[in-house]
Amino acid sequence: MTETYPQAGSAQTAAPVLLQLQDLQKSYGPAQILAGVDFEIRKGEFVCVVGPSGSGKTTLLKCMAGLLEPSGGKTVFEGEEVTEPPAKLAVVFQDYSRSLLPWMTIWQNVELPMKNKFPKPERPARIESVLEAVGLAGKGGLYPWQMSGGMQQRAAIARGLAYQPDVLLMDEPFAAVDAQTRIELEDLVLRVRAEFDTTVVFVTHDIDEAVYLADRVIVLSGAPTTVSRNIAVDLPRPRDQRDTKLLPEYARLRAEVFELIQSAKSHATIR
Ligand code: ADP
Ligand code: MG
Repeated sequence: MTETYPQAGSAQTAAPVLLQLQDLQKSYGPAQILAGVDFEIRKGEFVCVVGPSGSGKTTLLKCMAGLLEPSGGKTVFEGEEVTEPPAKLAVVFQDYSRSLLPWMTIWQNVELPMKNKFPKPERPARIESVLEAVGLAGKGGLYPWQMSGGMQQRAAIARGLAYQPDVLLMDEPFAAVDAQTRIELEDLVLRVRAEFDTTVVFVTHDIDEAVYLADRVIVLSGAPTTVSRNIAVDLPRPRDQRDTKLLPEYARLRAEVFELIQSAKSHATIR
């Protein structure tokens, strides 16, 4: 399985808009976290949203997913305002240990959200294909607690994909795994994204990860948060953990994002 997008960054500019954030605002009591966030995601794009810890990335993602009501502004998904979790949207959270149901096998966990969408006879082939795509072929009978953290996160990704969402939202999905597993999972996400033609919005505080994965990096300012810059990443695909990171353009993009994050940190309201 290889990545098949030749130059996704430039190729996607003509694709239709899938998701739009319009002046999205969120406060918790008196604390304003999101102070009007605007951006749009086109079909097929891999967009990383990067910002310092506490800048409101999880808050933003939950508002986009219809899991949290914004205080102002809105998210529009496929032309309709998001007021509850849309059926064609899936979320992978950071904490895999709490996102998989421990009393169900991996197979049952992956099947669960499919029940509303696919008739029973169609499910086994699809479950097998996503388990294979994430490197868990033949492991469907295991329970989450019989697996390592990296395997559990693979299972959570498989569950998100099995549902065949139009967009996959991922909230720092690799923050809790070790460095080697993280590298494997980054490349896994790039491959399955190409194979399943999924639009991905990937939230991270990790600058290297954002530049490595993305067609576009959206950098958030510190809270109260707005978009500080929207950066096109025209690095060639398929990406390679060694070769891509040796490119001068990679270093330049990394430095640009780094400086923006540093300045966001120094301007953020300390809570
Ligand atoms: P990030 O994901 O970027 O680290 P979060 O969206 O988790 O940021 O949080 C942004 C800010 O909002 C933090 O200061 C956090 O403490 C606060 N916050 C998050 N969730 C809640 C909540 N349910 N109630 C009150 N404050 C919250
Ligand atoms: Mg978070």
